[in-house]
Amino acid sequence: MDVVVNAAMSVDGKLSTRRREQLKISGSDDFERVDRVRTAVDGVVVGIGTVMADDPHLILDDPAGRHERREAGRPPSPARIVVDSRGRTPPDGRICDDAAATYVLVSEAAPADNRTALRKAGATVLVAGETRVDLEAAIAKLESQGLESLLIEGGGEIIYSAFEADVVDELSVFVGSLVIGGRQAPTLADGEGFLEAFPQLSLRAVERLDDGVVLQYTVSKNETSPSN
Ligand code: NAP
Repeated sequence: MDVVVNAAMSVDGKLSTRRREQLKISGSDDFERVDRVRTAVDGVVVGIGTVMADDPHLILDDPAGRHERREAGRPPSPARIVVDSRGRTPPDGRICDDAAATYVLVSEAAPADNRTALRKAGATVLVAGETRVDLEAAIAKLESQGLESLLIEGGGEIIYSAFEADVVDELSVFVGSLVIGGRQAPTLADGEGFLEAFPQLSLRAVERLDDGVVLQYTVSKNETSPSN
């Protein structure tokens, strides 16, 4: 599976405010860039924290991108994928509408009622992990559904876990020209934090866009990881 992480952050590394309210960090040029990344992938991944905070739709808006995908025999938008241990994704949320396929990755701890409600709403529920979604196992399940490339859009907990599981190939980050602050505000990578074996990145490109900058990195795979 090819995995790209893309997010927009303030210069102090925050994805949103301490109230976890969605915030406009980038601009129209960056939205277009993100649409091009979405055009290329089979699935767009967010955590349940992002679904609860933002009610995202995660659809490809760009008509040219939708056309390009149709011409290639692909669905007009990539699948929407939620990492959600307990199946708390609201079945009436925008991410479950019929504008694209929806996968909800849950753990064995997800109550049967929640799974049933999500299936009724048209989502495909995949189980990976005992009490928390095991990202490596979840990616293997998505592969068995025919997905070959993913764009992880956030939030900070999911991005950290993806780096921890050593599944990220590329990172793009838009750095907006603002300071958000707040020790409780989500950052690009939250989780427990690394004490050693920090993910190593190789800077591939720097581009000035809107009133900010896009940094693009290739991620070096951790040779000591048990998954390698
Ligand atoms: P998140 O990363 O979206 O979701 C985290 C939740 O996912 C966890 O609390 C956990 O809840 C679930 N989860 C299941 N398995 C997991 C695993 N293996 N690793 C990590 N989490 C797992 O939430 P967040 O960090 O609170 O981020 C949400 C904030 O980010 C919002 O404010 C949103 O606006 C912002 N955001 C910003 C951008 C940007 O580009 N600026 C992009 C996306 C989001 P359960 O235990 O209940 O499953």
